[in-house]
Amino acid sequence: MNRDKSEALFKKATNLIPAGVNSPVRAFKSVNDSPFYVKKAKGAYLYDVDGNEYLDYVSSWGAIILGHADRGLVSAIKKAVEDGTSYGACHPAEIEIAQLIVDAFPSIELLRLTSSGTEATMSAIRLARGFTGKRGIIKFRGCYHGHVDSLLVKAGSGLATFGTPDSDGVPEDLAKHTYVAEFNHIETVKNIIQEHKDIACLIMEPIMGNMGVILPEEKFLNYVQELCQQSGILLICDEVITGFRVTYGGAQHVYGIDPDITCLGKIIGGGFAIGAFGGKRKIMQALAPLGNTYQAGTLSGNPIAVRAGIYTLQYLRDHRDMYDQMRQRIEMAKDSILRIATKHGVPYRINSTTGMFTGFFSDRDVNDYESAATCDKKAYESFFKHMLAEGIFFAPSQFEASIVTMCHKEREISKTINSYEKVFKAMGSSS
Ligand code: PMP
Repeated sequence: MNRDKSEALFKKATNLIPAGVNSPVRAFKSVNDSPFYVKKAKGAYLYDVDGNEYLDYVSSWGAIILGHADRGLVSAIKKAVEDGTSYGACHPAEIEIAQLIVDAFPSIELLRLTSSGTEATMSAIRLARGFTGKRGIIKFRGCYHGHVDSLLVKAGSGLATFGTPDSDGVPEDLAKHTYVAEFNHIETVKNIIQEHKDIACLIMEPIMGNMGVILPEEKFLNYVQELCQQSGILLICDEVITGFRVTYGGAQHVYGIDPDITCLGKIIGGGFAIGAFGGKRKIMQALAPLGNTYQAGTLSGNPIAVRAGIYTLQYLRDHRDMYDQMRQRIEMAKDSILRIATKHGVPYRINSTTGMFTGFFSDRDVNDYESAATCDKKAYESFFKHMLAEGIFFAPSQFEASIVTMCHKEREISKTINSYEKVFKAMGSSS
């Protein structure tokens, strides 16, 4: 596969943009490669500047669900652009998208739109602190909630510990209010709550997507909710990936939980910059100008993003059967891929839910941070490169979800299975 033009562009980009990219994982650094440059995208495919075609399992990190450049969505956007690109003033479509979200998520009574998932989680945390008058936050190790200072924190070893920042530039003074628990280990949440009385909120991805897909164990989310309720801790459900992906009402619908605040993003903008946070009326009323917790945004509720979001959500609302189709297609692929892995002696596990899955290079089940973190990253690097050469684009990191859209149909699943056969054969014989 020739990638000369992409390589030349990447070289140019590194002179102008740190590492050549506007978001770190796009640099392909963790798989020791350099990125291709996209010229256009259609359906389940990306096309690069060298003329290569890639079956896309990144799907803009979950923002795309109808497939790239969906015809109906494109014409809705064109029409929206004709009416102006930004108003900084109220417009009717804001109410329409708010109604769609409230109808889909019974836990949300009032909501605000933002311009990214990061802004949504950042605002949700400020709101929780403002509402409760407390400072502490509980998060799970390995959950990613955007590049919010207080959330760029991981645990040291052991159970509940004070957080230390993951990134330079995050003051220890801020990070020390973040307590880190272990997903699927309820006792770690209990321990933190017993030890610390200043906790405003617990934020979680209900299905982990940022260590690869890790599903909550039976009742885990319900126990988390119970513990929060007993202690006056607000439960923030970060459904930036899972909302409208795993089903129309998000993971909270699947697992029967009722969070105080929910964060959304990605899908609700149909591929445009958007985020949202919403929840119980009395909590949301603490936001300015009703209350004293300040939150704002020049482009919040941008008319193009909102109208793209409305088109997407209405389509999903009226075609619920496509969630079943997305699930069935992943199940079909999963069975075949696991058979292929066994045949070629490649230790492999697949975790999946509707619309997303992760294949882990591991000989044991992956159900928490520890079991994910110990996967074979070298094997993933080899897999990634082989797959790219086959014309299939998986995320350039073991710790991401592979994202399926409505356009990943039987043809795409067959292509994927055939490529697994070739790639695992090569990997099996080289190990
Ligand atoms: N929450 C989750 C669960 C995410 O996966 C992400 C981004 N991948 C974010 C929040 C942040 O969203 P954004 O990149 O739009 O700021």
